[in-house]
Amino acid sequence: MMMTDKNVIQTKLSEIKQNIAESALKSGRDPDAIRLMAVTKTKPAETVQTLIDLGVTEIGENYPDETLEKRAVFDAAPETVRLNMIGHCQSRKIKIVAELFDCFQSLDSLETGLKLNQALRKNGKVMPVLIELNVGAETSKMGWPLDGAVLTEQFYSDFEKLQTCSQLKIEGLMTLPPFTEVENAEDNRRYFANLRNVLEQLNVRYGTRMHELSMGTSNDYRVAIEEGATCVRIGTSLVGPREK
Ligand SMILES: *Cc1c(COP(=O)(O)O)cnc(C)c1O
Repeated sequence: MMMTDKNVIQTKLSEIKQNIAESALKSGRDPDAIRLMAVTKTKPAETVQTLIDLGVTEIGENYPDETLEKRAVFDAAPETVRLNMIGHCQSRKIKIVAELFDCFQSLDSLETGLKLNQALRKNGKVMPVLIELNVGAETSKMGWPLDGAVLTEQFYSDFEKLQTCSQLKIEGLMTLPPFTEVENAEDNRRYFANLRNVLEQLNVRYGTRMHELSMGTSNDYRVAIEEGATCVRIGTSLVGPREK
C-alpha cells in the first residue's frame, strides 16, 4: 500500500470522527457512545492493517471466505480490535464465522442462529449478536421484516427461541435501510427511528436491557446517530469504492 493511501484514509477517518461527534452533540448524546465500524469487504488485508494502525477497533466484513484469506491481519491485531460479521451467512460458512469472528451483527434467521449456537458450543465460545431487521421490508434484503415499527408474530416466535440459545448474547438490533444518496439521508430517518422504537418495545416486552443499534452507513450515518445509533458501519466514504 502506498503512503498516500494511508494519508487519505487518515484524513477521511478524522473527518468522519468529527461528523460523528457533531451529530452526537447536536442530538444531546455523548460522542463516545457511538462506535465507528470500518467496513472492509473487497478491500485487501493492507487496508485493514492501515485502519488498525490508525486506531480503528471495529472492522466489518461480509464474506467469510474473503475474511479467511485476510485472517493473518486479524490474528495479529490487538485484543481491542473486534471483527464483526455484517453480511448474510450461508449455512456452510457458519463454522468459519464461529471460529474467526468476535461479533455477529447480521443474524437474519432462526436457522442461522441455531446453527451458529451449535458451532459456538463446540468452540466453547459465547458471541455477541445483533438481530437484523428489514426496516424497508425490501425483498432484496435479509432479516425479519418491519412494518413501520410493528414486528410480525413470526419474529416473536423466532426471537423467543433465539433467547434460549446459550452461546448467543443478543445485544440489540441492526439494519440496512433502502439505499439513499447523501442529499436524501433524511428519507431514512423514519427507518432509524422505527428501529429504536422496536428495541424499546422488545426491552419492555421481555424485560431485557438490549442497547445496541447498529445503523447508518456512508450516506446516512449522521441521521442514524441523531436517531440513536450506537454503531455506524462505514465503507465507501472511509476506504473508497469497493474493488471488483
Ligand atoms: C457494505 C455494507 C456497509 C457499508 O456501506 P457503505 O455505503 O460503503 O458505507 C454497511 N453495512 C452493511 C451491512 C454492508 O453490507
